[in-house]
Amino acid sequence: MSAAVIDGKAFAAGLRQRVGVAAAAFAAQAGRKAGLAVVLVGEDPASAVYVRAKGKATLEAGMASFEHRLPAATSEAELLALIAQLNADPAVDGILVQLPLPAGIDEQAVIAAIAPDKDVDGFHIDNAGRLAVGQEGFVPCTPLGCLMLLQDALGDLSGKEAVVIGRSNIVGKPMAQLLLNANATVTIAHSRTADLPAVVRRADIVVAAVGRPEMIRGDWLKPGAVVIDVGINRLAPTDDAPKGRLVGDVAYDEAAGVAAAITPVPGGVGPMTIAVLLRNTLVAAYRHAGLQMEGDAL
Ligand code: NDP
Repeated sequence: MSAAVIDGKAFAAGLRQRVGVAAAAFAAQAGRKAGLAVVLVGEDPASAVYVRAKGKATLEAGMASFEHRLPAATSEAELLALIAQLNADPAVDGILVQLPLPAGIDEQAVIAAIAPDKDVDGFHIDNAGRLAVGQEGFVPCTPLGCLMLLQDALGDLSGKEAVVIGRSNIVGKPMAQLLLNANATVTIAHSRTADLPAVVRRADIVVAAVGRPEMIRGDWLKPGAVVIDVGINRLAPTDDAPKGRLVGDVAYDEAAGVAAAITPVPGGVGPMTIAVLLRNTLVAAYRHAGLQMEGDAL
C-alpha cells in the first residue's frame, strides 16, 4: 500500500484564495481593510523569516499589514506599551507577537496583555478556555490547520480513535481539544507515555507534534491510519543537502507504506499555519465590524 499524500500546500493556497475573496468583500462592506499587526523583538533569523512571510501573505490576501520590529534590548514595559497601543487601534484586528521573545521578557505576561478579541494566534488564556469549553474564540493556527486537513481527508471524524503525540499549549493540547469537539476519541501521548508504539497502533488518526526527527516508525501505525506530521526538524548537513534536510516527526517512507494518507514535510502542515492566521484575522475583522461573513467557506 502507498499512502495518499495530503497536500497541505495546495489546501493552504485554496484557503488563502478564499480568504482573499472574503477580505475584498469585507473591505467593500466595512470601508476599511482587515489589519494584522506582527511584532518582532530582536534579531532571531528564523523569526525574521516567519515575520516577513506573514507580512507578505497578509498583503497578498488584500489585508493591511503593520510590522513592528523592536530591538533585542526592548524592555517588557516597552513591549506591553506597544501592545496596549495596538489593542486600542481600530485599524488592527489581529495582533501576533512572534515567539520566542528575548530572555528577560515574560512571554506569558505579553500574551496575557493582548486583547482576546485580537489574539489571532489563540494563545491567550481566555481563548484556550473558550476552546476547552466549546465556546467561540480563536484557536491556535497550526492545530486548526491540521483539523481542516483531517476533515478534508476523512470527512466526519466522529468515533475515530485519535492519538496526539505532544502536549504543548501551542499544538498538542489545542489539537486534542479540536478532535474531541469533532467527536473523536482522543488520547494525548507525551514523553512519559508508557509503550508509545502500542498507544499509536490503536489510532485511526495520528497527529505527531514532538520535535524529534523521524521518531514515529512505520510499524507503530495501524494499517490505514491517517497521519498528520506537525514536526519540522532540520537534520545535520550532508554532501547532498548542505543546509541539512527537513524531516518530520514521522519516518515518512516507512509510514507511507502503512498509512492511508499522510502529510509530507515540507509541504504538509507548515503552509497551513499562515493560511489559518489570515483566516483568523479576517474572522476577527468581521467580529469587530459587527458584520456577517457570507458563506462559511472559511
Ligand atoms: P514542544 O517542545 O513544546 O512539545 C513537544 C511535546 O513532545 C511535549 O509535550 C513532549 O512531552 C513531547 N515529547 C518529547 N519527546 C517525546 C518522546 N520521546 N515521546 C513522546 N513524546 C515526546 O513542541 P511544539 O508542540 O511547539 O512543536 C512540536 C513540533 O512541531 C516541533 O517539531 C515544531 O517545530 C513543530 N511545529 C510546527 C509548526 C508548523 O508546522 N507551522 C508550528 C508549531 C510547531 P512532555 O510534555 O512530556 O515533555
